[in-house]
Amino acid sequence: MNIAIIGTGYVGLVTGGCLAQLGMNVICMDIDEDKIERLKNGIVPIYEPGLEELIRENRSSKRLSFTTSIKKAVAHAKVIFIAVGTPQQQDDSADLKYVYQAVRDIASHMEDYKVIVNKSTVPVGTGQGVKTEIESILKQRSKTFGFDVVSNPEFLREGTAVKDFLKPDRIVIGTESETALNYMKRIYDVQIQLDIPFVVTNLETAEMIKYASNAFLATKISYINEIADMCDLCNADISVISKAMGLDNRIGSKFLNPGPGYGGSCFPKDTKALVNIGKNLGYIPKIVESTVEVNDNQPMMMFEKINKTLGCLENKIITILGIAFKPETDDIREAPAINIIKNLLKNGAKIKAFDPEAMENAKKMHPDLSIEYCTDVNSACENSDCIVLVTEWQDFMNLDLLELKANVRTPVFIDLRNVYTPGYVEKSGFLYKGVGRK
Ligand code: NAD
Repeated sequence: MNIAIIGTGYVGLVTGGCLAQLGMNVICMDIDEDKIERLKNGIVPIYEPGLEELIRENRSSKRLSFTTSIKKAVAHAKVIFIAVGTPQQQDDSADLKYVYQAVRDIASHMEDYKVIVNKSTVPVGTGQGVKTEIESILKQRSKTFGFDVVSNPEFLREGTAVKDFLKPDRIVIGTESETALNYMKRIYDVQIQLDIPFVVTNLETAEMIKYASNAFLATKISYINEIADMCDLCNADISVISKAMGLDNRIGSKFLNPGPGYGGSCFPKDTKALVNIGKNLGYIPKIVESTVEVNDNQPMMMFEKINKTLGCLENKIITILGIAFKPETDDIREAPAINIIKNLLKNGAKIKAFDPEAMENAKKMHPDLSIEYCTDVNSACENSDCIVLVTEWQDFMNLDLLELKANVRTPVFIDLRNVYTPGYVEKSGFLYKGVGRK
């Protein structure tokens, strides 16, 4: 099967690489010439475990190629996936300009029946809007051939994206067309054979499933953060609470770890977009609204924790371990570390930071922030007045605390992911503060 992917970012590149791995002939297209040039030279522009090997293997077997030509991509494929960004706009709604640009580009170059599959996260009703847009362009071009629009939301998690794509918990397909559904079944044949649930529904339901899922997970995080923030004010221990809650099968143990708040390219914008979708429908989704509010405040709560622990921030050297919004990614979009750093700098602190993968992106996206980027944990902790563990990278799980103690100016360890047991850190001579536990 010949496939085109429009938009070669985190989702597009993983989708393209994985579909090629499953035996399809894939062209990944992007308007970013630099990105495509690098990919043509074998350079993978993002850090995602397993992706580089996948791309290398499938490029050499000629099942995967890259282009900036929409004409070439459309001519190549029967099924065209759209995986462009849908960033947040000022009014919190999803900006659909990249999606509609891609749709117009596809419709202007179609010469026969195509299945147009939307993988970008888009508000309910977008699939129908896409249909109308394509019909109108084909009419202008006096073309009469058919096409189908499918919603196939993506649930991959950065850091485990390849695995998530190849073996997802479920595949959701929204379409009104039997022909398009058959194409989708062929594309996901391997997953169907593995008995991975294949949910078929209409366009609107598929679009809503994505927002409902992300907002639910985000709500779980904000919920446990609220409980943790209350634990900080009493003698309760959130780690025991999370564990005991998670033992209830109806609740489940995942997404019950407190921390500096959710970040990344999805949860923050998708929760806000869902509130916006509700408001446009004349309904205010109060739970999601509160989820957003709690999350927006959580980096400030973490800043306050650091501030209160140190008493005064002026000229204090703070070590930030981890900038990425979560481990195993270089993505720093909406990363809570950035907000915490901004507040610390504003209050006179000096920042030294280390992240195994995300420092280049941090330098590029926040050149204004005066951060001393370090090459490893030890140099980041030298002369530090406070080590703040923000992202739970594997590299930070087994720190040599005695060595670090000898290196720092003041032994304070603030663990925003509750990675360490307080007693263990205290035994090494540090003052320990976690989230929601003494
Ligand atoms: P991204 O910003 O990493 O990549 C988007 C790519 O689209 C960019 O390379 C950009 O140059 C390209 N692009 C924009 N307009 C184009 C056009 N007209 N033609 C061709 N290329 C174009 O975005 P992403 O993180 O991959 O997210 C893409 C979509 O998938 C979003 O809607 C997002 O919400 C959703 N999503 C993301 C994730 C994730 O973890 N990143 C997971 C699930 C769903």
